[in-house]
Amino acid sequence: MAHLEPFVSPHAQANGQHQPNPFSLEGKIALVTGGGTGIGLEIARCMATAGATVIITGRRESVLQEAATELGESVHYLTNDVCELDTLEDLVAQIEATHGPLDILVNNAGINMKKPALEVTDEEFSRIIHTNLNAVFALTRTCASRMMERKSGVILMISSMAAYYGIDRVVAYAASKSAVEGMVKVLASEFSKNNVRVNAIAPGFIETDMSRTAMNSDPDRRDRAMRRTPMGKFGQPSDIGHAAVFLASEAARYITGASLPVDGGNSIGF
Ligand code: NDP
Repeated sequence: MAHLEPFVSPHAQANGQHQPNPFSLEGKIALVTGGGTGIGLEIARCMATAGATVIITGRRESVLQEAATELGESVHYLTNDVCELDTLEDLVAQIEATHGPLDILVNNAGINMKKPALEVTDEEFSRIIHTNLNAVFALTRTCASRMMERKSGVILMISSMAAYYGIDRVVAYAASKSAVEGMVKVLASEFSKNNVRVNAIAPGFIETDMSRTAMNSDPDRRDRAMRRTPMGKFGQPSDIGHAAVFLASEAARYITGASLPVDGGNSIGF
């Protein structure tokens, strides 16, 4: 059983009691791919606030540098393209040599492309699948083999509503995220015996550069997304960050193989 950091609520303090905070990530080491922008940036911020040391990666050094400076001294960055699969072993080895064993992997880096299916070329399809699926598997395998040996670890995937129902013009993206949802179940089944949990978060419509690009060019799509979102608003990247902290923490220790919609009710909207 992992050690839980002591947490004293005002009520417990008044009663002289000490109890661990199951939501704390104190002392944990987390890798967040694509952590320089959007959802990844807020996952990094929320995890750092919960006490973790966070390493963010991405392809643009200036973006990562700015993000790490903004988030403070417990956030570090390494420039890395997840699509270069033969760099991933070295990436993880470097992180562990510098910061210690990785406790948490968040496979957040991803790309999208909006185009009618009949116009999508094989190259475009492969590019999306390579980033959103092949790279996710390769990095997960690298981290998981170390976690399995240590009998401890948490892996989070960032899925999408596109894996849940038929959103038009995102065929490669939907295929990649649907595959990630399948991967979560298989890996959770294989890794549980070694205390490595695997879960997904399925964000609804969250305000980031990626979604702004998709929505601003298509007001009809934006209106349709809103109409079926009972909470009547887009989500914020921090909504995903808080869910990621929960799933990575001891508070979620009996949760594995799940996909948590964080979507203002979009997935159950009529
Ligand atoms: P952003 O475009 O803001 O962020 C994507 C991040 O991934 C960037 O930091 C980018 O950095 C990084 N990235 C992309 N390709 C690579 C690569 N090859 N290697 C390393 N890093 C890479 O998008 P979001 O924050 O919106 O998306 C984050 C995740 O959330 C994605 O997986 C997306 O599919 C998912 N999602 C988003 C939703 C939304 O509404 N916004 C809804 C559902 C899911 P750089 O370009 O510097 O490499």
